[in-house]
Order: sequence, then structure tokens, then C-alpha cells
Amino acid sequence: MNPLNELPVLDAARCTGCGDCVVACPVACLAMGGTRPWLPRPRDCVSCSVCELVCPADAIQLKPVAS
Ligand code: SF4
Ligand code: SF4
Repeated sequence: MNPLNELPVLDAARCTGCGDCVVACPVACLAMGGTRPWLPRPRDCVSCSVCELVCPADAIQLKPVAS
């Protein structure tokens, strides 16, 4: 698990499917699944918040993962 124990959570109603978050993720743990991003490799996520910061629709938020 990543150091901060946080993972991105998608608000699908806000997401436009632009793919910016997938392109920006420095460790390539996001991917497009049809028109929405998902997290096929959650163990690679480093909780950097880049996906949250680049999203033009404010559709991603990092949230603590229950452990
Ligand atoms: S927080 Fe960083 S590492 Fe995790 S999915 Fe977003 S961009 Fe990728
Ligand atoms: S950057 Fe935001 S709007 Fe674009 S695909 Fe990712 S979550 Fe959806």
C-alpha cells in the first residue's frame, strides 16, 4: 500500500472522460475503462494527488483507505 494510505475516488457524475488523469499519473496506475478512469493497479499508487490536481472537472478526490 502507498505511504499515505489514500487512493483516488471518482465522482462519476462529474467526470467527462477526458483522460487527463490517466495521462498525468506518474506511475501509470490509472487506466480508462470505457469512458471513465479506474484504478487497475491500486498498489502502485503513491498518493501524489496529481490526478486530483489535473482533473478539470474536479471529479477525483484522494480519500483514506480503510485498513
Ligand atoms: S494519486 Fe498519484 S499515483 Fe495515485 S492514481 Fe493519482 S496520480 Fe496516480
Ligand atoms: S481528469 Fe477528471 S474528468 Fe478527466 S477522465 Fe480523469 S476524472 Fe474524468
